[in-house]
Amino acid sequence: MSSSDDEGSGEEYLFKVVIIGDSAVGKSNLLSRYARNEFNMHSKATIGVEFQTQSMDIDGKEVKAQIWDTAGQERFRAVTSAYYRGAVGALIVYDITRRTTFDSVGRWLEELNTHSDTTVARMLVGNKCDLENIRDVSVEEGKSLAEAEGLFFMETSALDSTNVKKAFEIVIREIYSNVSRKVL
Ligand code: GDP
Ligand code: MG
Repeated sequence: MSSSDDEGSGEEYLFKVVIIGDSAVGKSNLLSRYARNEFNMHSKATIGVEFQTQSMDIDGKEVKAQIWDTAGQERFRAVTSAYYRGAVGALIVYDITRRTTFDSVGRWLEELNTHSDTTVARMLVGNKCDLENIRDVSVEEGKSLAEAEGLFFMETSALDSTNVKKAFEIVIREIYSNVSRKVL
């Protein structure tokens, strides 16, 4: 897949991105949809998986994102500082059919802020938008929380692929732009 004129400018980018949010909101499926185009209806709480690396092209440069999944730590409502270490991007995920997961977003943001010592590109993600008939959090609520907290916002479905690629790529582009502007 790599191009034949692959001499390269010598510049390489590798960014760490973390996915956080309550248990069962779809974090692992968002990652598997993005990185492998896979979805698992019966996925168990994530155990063991650490990260997936995914590349995208920005301005003709290969930009790699090392995207971390929680390995199930979020079941205990906290993940360790090692998880956040070095992260320059984050997706904070809730489930649009479960209000409690939306109510937790503030706490996840606090935890993220506590552990980061740099600018972090942040996207609020309302996942499972395919389940419109049992929606419990409106699009407007998601939008206004994102605005209030200065986050990007997107509703996604890991099941039918809606906006999944877009959500990750907006975050990765923002990180790249932060690096270019040297705010990191
Ligand atoms: P995690 O605990 O946040 O990593 O959540 P998982 O990715 O393991 O997903 C939890 C459950 O929600 C699984 O049964 C998934 O099949 C389901 N799920 C995840 N994403 C979606 C989605 O976009 N739509 C629907 N309908 N179900 C989803
Ligand atoms: Mg998981």
